[in-house]
Amino acid sequence: MQRQRPTPAYSTALVALAALLLAAAFLNLVPWTTGATVSDPEPETPVSGLPPKPPPVPADRPEPAEEETGPLLFTGNINRLPLEMIVDKLGFLQSPIAGARILMTDGQLPGAPRAYRNGTHEGIDYYNGFAGTPIRKGTPVLAAADGKVIRIDHDYVEMSAAERAKYRRLSAEAEKTPEYILDRFRGRQVWLSHRGQVITRYAHLDTVEQSLSVGDTVEAGRQIGTVGNSGTGPAITGSGDEMHLHFEIWLNGHYLGEGLPPDDIRLILRGILE
Ligand SMILES: [Zn+2]
Repeated sequence: MQRQRPTPAYSTALVALAALLLAAAFLNLVPWTTGATVSDPEPETPVSGLPPKPPPVPADRPEPAEEETGPLLFTGNINRLPLEMIVDKLGFLQSPIAGARILMTDGQLPGAPRAYRNGTHEGIDYYNGFAGTPIRKGTPVLAAADGKVIRIDHDYVEMSAAERAKYRRLSAEAEKTPEYILDRFRGRQVWLSHRGQVITRYAHLDTVEQSLSVGDTVEAGRQIGTVGNSGTGPAITGSGDEMHLHFEIWLNGHYLGEGLPPDDIRLILRGILE
């Protein structure tokens, strides 16, 4: 039996209906035709066909000079490695204060809460009485390894009491300490970039080495500054309290000790820096 062919009028109606559906789909009016809904936001890909921009690198992650320091020592979060492997990889670092030991309390270690600014401590505090060697205003601060100067604050200006109070208030209101405020609280600083893109930061300095500039190379143990209390409350009042070195070790956007228990951090630091 021969298949019945549609009449010309029926065919015309089918074509018209198909055209209508195509137009509706094109205009994104019929959700089930594209899986999209009318309320969908604009697509990510721009009309020009260029790929979307990568997310910006967070400003609070110090950037090493890759061409100078070679490929990353470790491409993930180094804190996830077994403790002995962390010590092995970072064993080329040495103490930023001659003869200092790791006798810090939990609150002087990375990861400790900092309630006054609604944030977290990212470094190691070398205070007098907790390092086995005197830590005073003027105690030499040394490069923890061969490296390159990527920041040195020759023109540091201390905060005013009003400025510090404002930053403390803004920090308390924020989810965490905003980086530009944290940077002010670190006071006068030197940052060094080492092999494997390891970065060390030295904060609250009283002075920085006059002869050094950004781009200069330094050898391990070279004096880069002196202990002070810049960026702290007593630096404003002039009481002379809070003299200490705040020392940070960074790799691939993570500070050493991030997410680790204090006892593990002390073991790692003793293995690396003592
Ligand atoms: Zn500190």
